[in-house]
Amino acid sequence: MSTEQFDAVIVGAGFGGMGAAIQLNRLGYRNIAILDREDDLGGTWHVNRYPGLTVDVPSTTYSYWFEPNPYWSRLYAPGAELKSYAEHVADKYDLRRYMRFNTTVEGARWDEESQTWQVSLQGGQTLRAQFLILATGYLCQPKKPDIPGIEDFAGTVLHAQEWNDDYALRGRKAAIIGTGSTGVQLIPKLAEDVAELTVYQRTPIWVMPKFDLAFGPAAQRLFARFPVTQQLLRRSSDLFLDIMVTIAMWKFRQFRPVNTAAARIGALHRFLAIRDKELRRKLTPNYDFGCKRPTLSNVYYRTFNKPHVHLETAGIERIEPDGIVGRDGVKRAVDTLVLATGFDVWESNLPAIPVIGRQGRDLGKWWRENRFQAYEGMTVPMFPNMVTQASPYAWVGMSWFDTVEYQMRHMKRLFGELQRTGGRTFEVTEEANDRFLDRMLTLLDDSVFRLGDCTNSRSYWFNSSGEAPLFRPTSIRQAVKEQEHFPLTDYQIA
Ligand code: NAP
Repeated sequence: MSTEQFDAVIVGAGFGGMGAAIQLNRLGYRNIAILDREDDLGGTWHVNRYPGLTVDVPSTTYSYWFEPNPYWSRLYAPGAELKSYAEHVADKYDLRRYMRFNTTVEGARWDEESQTWQVSLQGGQTLRAQFLILATGYLCQPKKPDIPGIEDFAGTVLHAQEWNDDYALRGRKAAIIGTGSTGVQLIPKLAEDVAELTVYQRTPIWVMPKFDLAFGPAAQRLFARFPVTQQLLRRSSDLFLDIMVTIAMWKFRQFRPVNTAAARIGALHRFLAIRDKELRRKLTPNYDFGCKRPTLSNVYYRTFNKPHVHLETAGIERIEPDGIVGRDGVKRAVDTLVLATGFDVWESNLPAIPVIGRQGRDLGKWWRENRFQAYEGMTVPMFPNMVTQASPYAWVGMSWFDTVEYQMRHMKRLFGELQRTGGRTFEVTEEANDRFLDRMLTLLDDSVFRLGDCTNSRSYWFNSSGEAPLFRPTSIRQAVKEQEHFPLTDYQIA
């Protein structure tokens, strides 16, 4: 089979992969392949189409800083608008010509002799590339619960990430497993349609009030004609989120009372929505605010007041063909089972494909044997010419676009230096990588992850060793600013 040669292979056609392609284009690279196992672009916003899906950070912040969208219908835009925005960006920046869908990458290996990455595809084809960009995201491997009997369930199973739009919910006896960000959006919507809804909650989530706004035609015209008006709004939402995350998560040692205040707001939110004391107790998280991603909803708690909505907290014993049996022996008849059970962020996702660097170093194995680590959350020693986006210590702030922004800026400086010096390869030095890891670990000492009570949170931000190495524990501003100045000597360029 023939081997095609590219400047860069990007794995993933979501916002991260598209951002990387735009940056590479700006640097003059045109021979790019963007590969995606799905049948269209948009990543999570292509895959997720469940009822009630909206972005859970303000859309003003949840967009590329260089490509504002004046036409969001709301501050928290529905998922379909994010998918349209992704299509708009792909068209405007002419990225579709690089994209290949239904293309599953099986692995990548650095070839020392040709100084290129060899990217193997399902079906046997191999692509070669000077640069490898892993843009596979953190939340791309849906997790299916391992509950006894689930395979024998005779009704319909709907996965949040594989929603069947044609399935009529009206009149169904439904159950949903999962009360994370997805569950909190889905549950009120399901309750509108089904005859009975049982919610199986294992861990309650912090649910905060949502201050949403509709942007009517007049506001959209204003944003389109005077972009500075939307920019001002973006600055405010950026700043608010940055301060909140920095204080509530990274400066817990200094600002613990802020977390306590946030928890009180959450409690008031519950109190105003639910009169039943026992129900309120069951929905009350027993871990600190900030250990797990909080959600925003003004309708979630109220949904549990409806007579046809039941909350089960005893745990699931087994699933039978016609229902679910709880650990308390209570069986609920169910004909529709909705799974909002989240993602495997660790085992099958860091990295999402096998990657072999210099001297046969296996990235996944190395991370597990030597701690999760990546210089600036992007590059790894012994993995030349590779940028990995959803990496240890990469995630900054709550909006994925913040991570994409600082990483695009890092690429600009790094690849710019490569071009200036006429080099063909870059590789982060062991010393720079160690220094960065030490700094991240020291910063985490002040965080809610270390000092808060996260024991009962079951947060996917922690791995099985109890470490929380997904986030870069700095402000977004700092992460972005540092990309203009990181020492170029942190890389060996040859
Ligand atoms: P999640 O936060 O990991 O929640 C998964 C839920 O399923 C949890 O309640 C979990 O309970 C439960 N669960 C998993 N396995 C179970 C089992 N075997 N038995 C019982 N319960 C089980 O996943 P998510 O809700 O999909 O959200 C993941 C992330 O996606 C969010 O943090 C957010 O970053 C992103 N997201 C964003 C949006 C948006 O922007 N609109 C929407 C949805 C999601 P435990 O907590 O006890 O494990």
